[in-house]
Amino acid sequence: MTTNFYAPPSTIRSGRVVLPDQEARHVRTVLRGEEGDEMTVVDGEGGWYRVEITHLAPEQVVGTILERREGIGEPVVDVTVGIGLLKKRSRFETFVEKAVELGVRRIVPLRTRRTEPESMREERLRNVMLAAMKQCRRSRLPALAAPHSLADVGTTEAELGLVCHAGDDAIPIQQAVGERGRVQSVLILVGPEGGFTPGEVEEAVAAGYTPVSLGARRLRAETAGLAALSAIILASGGRGEERAPAPGSS
Ligand code: SAH
Repeated sequence: MTTNFYAPPSTIRSGRVVLPDQEARHVRTVLRGEEGDEMTVVDGEGGWYRVEITHLAPEQVVGTILERREGIGEPVVDVTVGIGLLKKRSRFETFVEKAVELGVRRIVPLRTRRTEPESMREERLRNVMLAAMKQCRRSRLPALAAPHSLADVGTTEAELGLVCHAGDDAIPIQQAVGERGRVQSVLILVGPEGGFTPGEVEEAVAAGYTPVSLGARRLRAETAGLAALSAIILASGGRGEERAPAPGSS
């Protein structure tokens, strides 16, 4: 079975995993799993398990843990993206899905001066994140914060704070990341469709953020967020990243 399954830590005990209902149904009906089959389970908190299905009932799938690893599929750098809530929910959902794939650790939707009042469908976004985590073979489910104002995010502790800004005072993002050598945690701010106001950029700079450019083209907010995230994760060089072992290998 090549898909990862999700089972929260509370379902994993004494060398056994009891799959939550929805995941159990998936094993039984979609993949037609059988007792003795192996599957990969992640707990969303960095735990990765190779599991043998030992009990298959209509309502329940139980597995025995054969191997446990930590942090499979996780980047070494901890990146938080603060991004203006987008007018179109589908664009924000696309951003969230892709950000999980690229390795984001935390997403903070921002309410800024030019953000149009918009609610987010939290439950739907969490499902998108869960599916993306399984699909891309990560072991950690990134966090989705409640919407914050810029001032609130300013207090978040990160080693490096960057604000995406297509202005003359911005330095290329690869330079900003490269200059600092190896950083453990980065917080990056991206404006909404209408951009940050000049005042907001100034506030961010006063709070210690470095303005960074993503090139000569004006990107849509969700593209900017993904490009910045990718630049940071790749600049960390993947040192220490561990890929999921091929199915069947041990
Ligand atoms: N309408 C705005 C553009 C907003 S783009 C304007 O004319 O200024 C949305 C956000 O994406 C911006 O606030 C910025 O954070 C980011 N962004 C887009 N293109 C960028 C680039 N080339 N460099 C840095 N940030 C960029």
